[in-house]
Amino acid sequence: AELANQIAAGEVVERPASVVKELVENSIDAGATMIEVEIYQGGHKQILIRDNGKGIPRDELELALSRHATSKIKSLDDLEAIASMGFRGEALASISSVSRLTLTSKTAVQNEAWQAQAQGRDMEVEILPAAHPVGTSVRVDDLFFNTPARRRFLRTEKTEFSHIETVFRRIALGHQNIGFTLKHNGKRVKQVKATESLYKRVSDLLGKTDERQLLALEAQCEEATLQGFIVNPSAPQTGQDWQYSFVNHRPMRDKLINHAIRQAFELLGLTDVEAQYVLFVEVEPSDVDVNVHPAKHEVRFHHARTVHDFIVSQVKQTLSTAAA
Ligand code: ADP
Ligand code: MG
Repeated sequence: AELANQIAAGEVVERPASVVKELVENSIDAGATMIEVEIYQGGHKQILIRDNGKGIPRDELELALSRHATSKIKSLDDLEAIASMGFRGEALASISSVSRLTLTSKTAVQNEAWQAQAQGRDMEVEILPAAHPVGTSVRVDDLFFNTPARRRFLRTEKTEFSHIETVFRRIALGHQNIGFTLKHNGKRVKQVKATESLYKRVSDLLGKTDERQLLALEAQCEEATLQGFIVNPSAPQTGQDWQYSFVNHRPMRDKLINHAIRQAFELLGLTDVEAQYVLFVEVEPSDVDVNVHPAKHEVRFHHARTVHDFIVSQVKQTLSTAAA
């Protein structure tokens, strides 16, 4: 079972950012409205996720850490949904097999909080009383301490943290109704409050935004609805990679979208600036295949040409309106 965990861990846990992604997704699944991500040394040393979700009952703590405990796959549809989100389940078991993991949680009906610890190969889970408000904290220490090859593969603290920031932004952009905090080495790097406004969420995440920096894009045609913001190429640049796209609210690193936006920039002669954007594309679920490349978050639009050209024209229009 331990080997199975470690093999699965290789799929789920590529680097600290993938741990953050899995744990934050669990917090979202648990209905959290506040999620705090605290990182030490790029996640090499420690990753700590706190949420105010529904918590895990004491008698389910051990189960939560064990493999096959929580199979969500009940039908082929579930399987497809899971595949499309690059979601393999059993994240906690996988992460705990390659780290020292501490899970602390309290549900609303419990008087006390409880803590479970698991460490690498030693899957003996000990449950101890703890102090914790309603919700869950997952602490991951010494990632890959027992898999030296993987540990060596980790990049610098700075690089790993920048991957974490990307994951953090992508998730925060897709869940504007949740408040998020990101800390690194004890310093608060980012904090965004829950908001109704996508503009607010984007500008909070981008930081130091003035009105001119974000160009709103909202458009609809028969095949697609677009909503998002283009970072104004004539405003001060963010100095960061800001290419975030979502298809039917799922984060995608989609080539078609990126290509379309860059083409719009090129058509306007904006060849020496990096196109930066946050774009939500909505299409009919039946007009898109999401299983093309689960791990790479790619999709295939049935009306690819139309969607592509629509994005080009709308981005061009947004940029020219701003320049005028
Ligand atoms: P999966 O998410 O595929 O069920 P995980 O290993 O990620 O597998 O989580 C195992 C289970 O532990 C979840 O199904 C959930 O019941 C519980 N769990 C994990 N994280 C949290 C959390 N932050 N809040 C509440 N429950 C959680
Ligand atoms: Mg999970």
